[in-house]
Amino acid sequence: MVTGSGGSEEAADFCIAIHGGAGDVAQERRAAHAEGCAAAARAGAAILAAGGSALDAVQRAVEVLEDDPRFNAGTGACLTESGALELDASIMRGDDLAAGAVCAMPPFKNPIAVARAVLDDGRHVLYAAEGAARFAVERGFARATPESMITEAVRERWQRGRGGKAMGYAGGTVGAVARDRSGHVASATSTGGTFFKREGRVGDTPVLGAGTYADDRAGAASATGIGEAIMRVCLTKAAIDVLATGAAPLAAACDAVALLEGRGRGSGGLVLVDARGRWGFARSTPTMSWAVMTSGLGEPRSGF
Ligand code: ASP
Repeated sequence: MVTGSGGSEEAADFCIAIHGGAGDVAQERRAAHAEGCAAAARAGAAILAAGGSALDAVQRAVEVLEDDPRFNAGTGACLTESGALELDASIMRGDDLAAGAVCAMPPFKNPIAVARAVLDDGRHVLYAAEGAARFAVERGFARATPESMITEAVRERWQRGRGGKAMGYAGGTVGAVARDRSGHVASATSTGGTFFKREGRVGDTPVLGAGTYADDRAGAASATGIGEAIMRVCLTKAAIDVLATGAAPLAAACDAVALLEGRGRGSGGLVLVDARGRWGFARSTPTMSWAVMTSGLGEPRSGF
């Protein structure tokens, strides 16, 4: 079933919308996940309020969530079946469709910052595994130790589920989309992937048009859920194409998630903003924590 978690039909000078991952977060942890998303929205909105770019705002918001151990990105990311961290992230801006992404990358504190360096460098769009790590080190990023990024909770869950019994959603992939005062949009997404994924498995998050897409002509979207299904339907590009027909953001988000459930044969959710600063969230999973902050709101709104 597709649930539209919220949306706005009012244009805004600036807008940032966040998701903290599709899944089924335990009742007692839902409010904390929503609060984590609100903190990220505040950090991104501070940049937008000061006239900063949508690209800087989504990067900052995702960094806040990567540093929050409750989410499946950066510190607290889930592990492969052999107990390793393989991190995926991507970032895209809508004015010129410039993008940067990394996949199956060994531990670095903020994968989204490495993806941003790929975008700024401009030579290629997507770097994988050790090639991504070498690029990052060349650009001045320090490798992190696995111990500094693997939390006790993640280690325990991995121990409990060893043997592949607890595969699937980790819950807690993170994403941000924004529209800035100049009318540009951007999107960023970061994840540890799915729990007990095989080594080398890459999901939708670093794939443009699947996990992340931004085009000033319509809007920006960030997806979460079963990556194999999201890639089948190019979920974020599909959502942006619906927006481009003039649909309201909430309707476009619901249409895209229905496509994911139907043709894609999988579940998940997404968040999007359109080029006028309107926003929408939809999911087909029991929960997807979210937050939004616009020029018209005094405080972020959030939920799950
Ligand atoms: N989409 C992510 C992946 O498949 C996981 C998630 O969003 O929970 O890697």
